[in-house]
Amino acid sequence: MLKGKVAIVTGSTSGIGLGIARELARLRADIVLNGFGDTREIETIRSGLERENDVRVVHDDADMSKEEAVRGLIGATIEKFGRLDILVNNAGIQFTAPVDEFPAAKWNAILAINLSAAFHGISAALPQMRKQRWGRIVNIASAHGLVGSTHKAAYVAAKHGLIGLTKVVGLEAAGSGVTCNAVCPGWVRTPLVEKQIEDIAAQRGLSQQQAARDLLAEKQPSLEFVSPEQLGGTVAFLCSSAADQITGTAMSVDGGWTAQ
Ligand code: NAD
Repeated sequence: MLKGKVAIVTGSTSGIGLGIARELARLRADIVLNGFGDTREIETIRSGLERENDVRVVHDDADMSKEEAVRGLIGATIEKFGRLDILVNNAGIQFTAPVDEFPAAKWNAILAINLSAAFHGISAALPQMRKQRWGRIVNIASAHGLVGSTHKAAYVAAKHGLIGLTKVVGLEAAGSGVTCNAVCPGWVRTPLVEKQIEDIAAQRGLSQQQAARDLLAEKQPSLEFVSPEQLGGTVAFLCSSAADQITGTAMSVDGGWTAQ
């Protein structure tokens, strides 16, 4: 379905991004992986994706907190592959604290990686996609892009901002063959959430399993985690021709969280 197309997935060495990269590779897109981690583990992922799907896969360790690095990632991809069809802005970090204790450095880092990186990436990628008269931009926002929670000032602000950016880009690109949408996951059991489960377990004296159950019960009516594979499927749908007229939207994949 995506043979001949080139996809960048930021923050794809782990969790949701890796699930998305796997699905796009399975559909035969060439992939640019991005993110940090153990060099050997990343190479195992990269070569495995390439071998299993008969596609080209490269890894670029561009730091999404830095404008030049984000723009460099887009430029290097276009130079290497001669095109860019899909940009998934997924890299993200979390930090929790009450707003009056929230460290300014954490605020700045979350805004830079979870919001500004998407702006820089889109701004650099859009001219190439317009030229090709086809493009898909998918911003991985969150249920926290639609509703708030305590102790997540920077994350909630960044994700609400990302949905705003999605609407504007959807409008500006309308009719050009390029769409821009946000995906809003509920809880997904990745390293980013594992830390929050550990905190609940420690605070309430619970096992990891009980803490995970508490975390879900508080927000996610399905009481089940969303999986990276399901989010890969959502992004694949947004890259299909069935989604040609879907743009500027925020699509919830959250087990009912934001229906409440
Ligand atoms: P994760 O921690 O498993 O993965 C984050 C990825 O981003 C990793 O590959 C990491 O190396 C990369 N990354 C972090 N900082 C980076 C930087 N400065 N430059 C480049 N790469 C960087 O997290 P995840 O849960 O898979 O989260 C992925 C996205 O999904 C995030 O935007 C997150 O906000 C969003 N999200 C997660 C959940 C959830 O429940 N896990 C829910 C909603 C939205």
